[in-house]
Amino acid sequence: MKKSVITVLMLLPFVFCMAQGQQRNAPPSQQKQEYPARMTPQMTEFFEPAVPVIQPAAQVGMPPSDAIVLFNGSDVNKEWEDSKGNPTKWVVENGSLVCVKGSGVIQTKRKFNDFQLHIEWKSPSEVKGDGQGRGNSGVYLQSLYEVQVLDSYDNPTYVQGQAGSLYKQHAPLVNACRKPGEWQSYDIIYTAPRFEEDTLSFFTPPRVTVLHNGVLIQNNVSLRGPTLYIGMPEYSVRKHGAMPLVLQDHGNPVAYRNIWIREL
Ligand code: MG
Repeated sequence: MKKSVITVLMLLPFVFCMAQGQQRNAPPSQQKQEYPARMTPQMTEFFEPAVPVIQPAAQVGMPPSDAIVLFNGSDVNKEWEDSKGNPTKWVVENGSLVCVKGSGVIQTKRKFNDFQLHIEWKSPSEVKGDGQGRGNSGVYLQSLYEVQVLDSYDNPTYVQGQAGSLYKQHAPLVNACRKPGEWQSYDIIYTAPRFEEDTLSFFTPPRVTVLHNGVLIQNNVSLRGPTLYIGMPEYSVRKHGAMPLVLQDHGNPVAYRNIWIREL
């Protein structure tokens, strides 16, 4: 490369800086429009659309003003039914909704897509059975994906089947179980799967976050497919839209209370 060309290249940055300096020192009327325009604080401050105002509950864990109350201690048949659409045989005792062995699952009459769910549950204080046979029930998101309910207090079982697991798919991060007979809570944030037109093609899988007694135990995990007892869930599932919330009858008298949901 010729020496003169090299000299020009070396001087270019100095020439550029001098030009910038002159631009900044010029009166505002003579300054050129900078592109992109210089950012101001107001350029990243938006007022529309306004954020909806809701009334939070006076006590944490109770339903806020925009929640749908699914069970508040009475009249289970207002929001729930059995799998055939008939009144459930689960019973209400002392403000709790208790599973009756052999009565089958119960499901909400409403159908849901994405949601935030609060639900409280209690395994029997009298400990009977072990492993999967002790205080077993379950919260089925969109009727298909089970968050396990189990008395996992000093009760070993396979880790993807203990309390707070996404059954057979994700073990909880920690075991936050209280003793049998004590009320516990799940707070579940659920994002439903999105499907392509072709039901066998790739979809955005369901995603789940769970807090157990206020402790994060599932952190936005992705599900492979619907819950299975035997075999590996498949990535492809039958296309579905909004579905009911389901509570499992696993033969144990697990009790529920204070159930509410917010559609997202
Ligand atoms: Mg279960």
